[in-house]
Amino acid sequence: MKASIKNSKTSKKICFIQPNTNYGVIENRFAIALTFPTIASAMKLQTHEYEIFVDGITDSDLSSFLITNEIGFAFITSITCNFPRAVELANICNDVGCITVLGGIFATMNFRAININFTQFNVIVTGNPTNSLMSNLIKIDSFPTVIHCGNGHIKTDNIAEILVNSKFVKSYPNCKVCYEIISGCDYNCTFCTLKHAWKKSALVTKSQSQIKHDLFSLSSIWKKLKIIDEDILQKPQILYGCSFAEMFDEIIVETRIDRINETTISLLKTFGVTHLVFGVETFSEKFLNYTQKSSSKSWESMAHNAIALCAKYSIIARPIVMLTALGHSLDYLYKLITKISSWNKRNGVDVLFAFYTPHPGLKDNLANGILLNNDLSLFDHINLVFLPDDIPIGSISEIVDIYNTLVMITDSEKFNPPLSITCNIDSKYSCFFAS
Ligand code: SF4
Repeated sequence: MKASIKNSKTSKKICFIQPNTNYGVIENRFAIALTFPTIASAMKLQTHEYEIFVDGITDSDLSSFLITNEIGFAFITSITCNFPRAVELANICNDVGCITVLGGIFATMNFRAININFTQFNVIVTGNPTNSLMSNLIKIDSFPTVIHCGNGHIKTDNIAEILVNSKFVKSYPNCKVCYEIISGCDYNCTFCTLKHAWKKSALVTKSQSQIKHDLFSLSSIWKKLKIIDEDILQKPQILYGCSFAEMFDEIIVETRIDRINETTISLLKTFGVTHLVFGVETFSEKFLNYTQKSSSKSWESMAHNAIALCAKYSIIARPIVMLTALGHSLDYLYKLITKISSWNKRNGVDVLFAFYTPHPGLKDNLANGILLNNDLSLFDHINLVFLPDDIPIGSISEIVDIYNTLVMITDSEKFNPPLSITCNIDSKYSCFFAS
């Protein structure tokens, strides 16, 4: 017999649930979401008050896991492309009588549409959870509902202690560990879902001694570190005097190409950075202006300079290059093949190709192109789901050929899986694309 949701209020135990994705880059599919330790820190949870279920890793079916662990509250986090899977998991949680809570960036940006159309989520939490979230949840007597939390910066003083506890270590075997030094971003790129959802400007939320203590603790368990700061060079002063090269085999960080110069790259090298991700995105003035990424210097020369400096300091460069975007014609794409032909593995460059993706919640972008699909499971930047005005719909097979050529000449198959295009409008998710 189906348990009543109200019965679940007898248990306050939480299960953090991370839905699986079909993300094509396998090694990035199961990154530790910092969401869960951040929630545990913000809500001041003790280890016995929560469990972790990582869909695709946890060796149990969700239903048995929830029953065995006497879970009362299922906290599901979701990004755009795993929202369809989050819906399936929410149905399972409902069936065993848990109160199902959806939070995270996708929920924050789309809470109205979800509240109306996906009622298997009993509660939607927008923004960053706080210490009072559980007492607010317990008071609710009518579902579905929305709880709005603040969008401010969270202080996560005990994040390393949470991450090295056995629950996280067991739940994410062989993963990179994630860490944040600077929370938020001072830029306003128009396609950025992070900035749109959290609206936070950049702030260093930890002292340098805390950063050193945390990374020392994390290195006792993990050898691969990903600093998830939107741009590690926004507050470079915090990095001086830090060197973690001996502690980790791999340190991956991100920045913008306009911050890369001899001084900053040498700072990153001393810090221990082995891989530097930066958004080249485009050489098109139209797209640079549209996305508010334009600069007084030539974007193209800054991109080549960034690649050259990474080579000089033996840091693997990981430029992100957008293929279909506003202002990108077929002619632009053919010229791109020549412009980046030397960016390849032999020269220490891992190129990451992306397709401009109008994520739900950023609806204004849809005015300028053709939506090829609204199956949310494909909205992950490496599927072609949208065509800008400048590229005719009949050119899709040509785009696939150009993509394959670029992947071949850059020797980047590991990061650029086969391209999926299914020109198919799925009515299930049309609610996110209404004007
Ligand atoms: S710099 Fe990065 S994080 Fe900041 S607004 Fe632009 S895309 Fe978003």
